[in-house]
Amino acid sequence: MSSALVVVDVQNDFCPGGNLAVKDGHEVVEGINAIRDSSEFSHVIFTRDWHPQDHVSFARNHPNQPEFSKKLVNGLPQTLWPAHCEEGTVGASFHEDLDVRDSDFIYSKGTSKDWEEYSAFGNSEMGKFTTFAEELRSRGISKLYVCGLATDYCVCETAIDGADQGFSVVLLEDLTRGIAPDTTRRAKARMRSAGVEIQTVDQLV
Ligand SMILES: [Zn+2]
Repeated sequence: MSSALVVVDVQNDFCPGGNLAVKDGHEVVEGINAIRDSSEFSHVIFTRDWHPQDHVSFARNHPNQPEFSKKLVNGLPQTLWPAHCEEGTVGASFHEDLDVRDSDFIYSKGTSKDWEEYSAFGNSEMGKFTTFAEELRSRGISKLYVCGLATDYCVCETAIDGADQGFSVVLLEDLTRGIAPDTTRRAKARMRSAGVEIQTVDQLV
């Protein structure tokens, strides 16, 4: 059985100073660098939010809708975010101290302008699935250790979808940071209900 460390969206826009900063988001970098060479992981995977300029989740693409407001899009409630992680920009780049190597697998998500994709596996509510599950299976990966940003959105949805797709999923909770305490609490409860195991790094060894 192969296990992968799945590092979700540790990008400049989600770190302090970025367009959609997660409080203390940069704090996960050192810990991720410290465990990436653990023998526990046969693969290290980095996901990244990688949006076109006209992405549906950007408030500026919805006239008269303020940032952080909600609107029904494709029949589903969509939070309208400040523009973030636009493909090819500095904001979309990984944090400069994050140890990303050529041999790592980098997976871009949110690349279609028409729907939100918090999860690397796609938008399950809309029935839009990415190739991520196939990519993992083709590498013989059956267990995922998920960490990164933000706990209450992309980390949570990726972990839950991974469990739904039949992967064994562990959340490394001390290597995540959330946007808000209440949504982070709810996200952890949802992950637990979905069968995601919640651990800290020191439980790894
Ligand atoms: Zn996004």
